[in-house]
Amino acid sequence: MYADRIKHLPPYLFAAIDKAKQEARAKGVDIIDLSVGDPDLPTPAHIVEALCLAARDPANHQYPSYEGKLAFRTAVADWYKRTFNVNLDPQKEVLTLIGSKEGIAHAPLAFINPGDIALVPDPAYPVYRTATAFAGGEPAIMPLLRENRFLPDLDAIDPAIANRAKIMFLNYPNNPIGASADRAFFKKLIDFARDYNIMVMHDNPYSEVYYDGERSLSLLELEGARDVAVEFHSLSKTYNMTGWRIGSVVGNADVVAGIGKIKSNIDSGTFGAVQDAGIAALQSPKGVVDEIRLVYQHRIEILYKALRDQGLELDKPRATLYLWAWVGGSSIEYAGRLLDKTGIVATPGVGFGQYGEGYIRFSITAPTARIELAVERLERMK
Ligand SMILES: *Cc1c(COP(=O)(O)O)cnc(C)c1O
Repeated sequence: MYADRIKHLPPYLFAAIDKAKQEARAKGVDIIDLSVGDPDLPTPAHIVEALCLAARDPANHQYPSYEGKLAFRTAVADWYKRTFNVNLDPQKEVLTLIGSKEGIAHAPLAFINPGDIALVPDPAYPVYRTATAFAGGEPAIMPLLRENRFLPDLDAIDPAIANRAKIMFLNYPNNPIGASADRAFFKKLIDFARDYNIMVMHDNPYSEVYYDGERSLSLLELEGARDVAVEFHSLSKTYNMTGWRIGSVVGNADVVAGIGKIKSNIDSGTFGAVQDAGIAALQSPKGVVDEIRLVYQHRIEILYKALRDQGLELDKPRATLYLWAWVGGSSIEYAGRLLDKTGIVATPGVGFGQYGEGYIRFSITAPTARIELAVERLERMK
């Protein structure tokens, strides 16, 4: 009945976790779910208010424009200017998305012919690989290893593969690892992309979820990036808006136009009222995101310490919502033992790719009181 493209999908990771969770719940276990990255805090009130107002405007009741309101795209450009000192032309270099996942999933359709290669990191957000396969492309894996600070080793990529590659997916600050990239790496990446004529799709939803006052980079801050790259951004993680489905892709005008062409044949844009609320989000007073960061920083600190005290090897992330701990051996077995002993649900690293094996990912998007309880249970487990 089904087409090969869905018959050949790897088993969906979270389905197995859901089953384990249900079984534990049925036994009466009080589950602490640290498996998914979905902010538990509500969307800030001024954004919700903006939506309510905008929903009453009949101009928002008709089909939105394909590329998104110019006012929203301008707000994205202004935000990039304020945040990263990057200038963008809202007409040609910004496209509104129905969440960044939507744009990422559609992007390969614009650039990949059957048999073309997309370079994808491993471990990674699974969409890069499946979207490539849906377009008939072949994902070529770039392992993210601790000895390389979890950055792909561009020198190790076979030139025969690089020559056939049309696009590369990357994501820093990184989910699931929590690693960040520095300017030196980004510079090297841009040179590599130029040498091999590869379009870089940089997925950057965690740029604002950083700690210790050390802000994260946009790839577009680097000279020459716009010649070879676009960046996907999202309001989801910055403003606790995962349910709203709004994001953007910015950068290289030809790449932006290609993704826009696919989208105009598939969807009809983002609800205008959600775009109006998105403008309110992007124009939030600075304190709004600072406050969210403080909550996460506390959670990161206490869970990091508890995991270290368990004897797990891990780095404290400079950004993102994740702790990525080396457990050795089977990550699925470890997750099972952890659930049995503590009721804590975490995600086995192997679910993000073969190079994630041996690691386990903890998300901090559960209420602080639950994370404090998780810390207590970990202490008792010692
Ligand atoms: C959460 C997440 C996304 C998706 O964000 P949306 O804008 O909500 O679609 C994309 N990439 C990574 C790596 C993520 O963790």
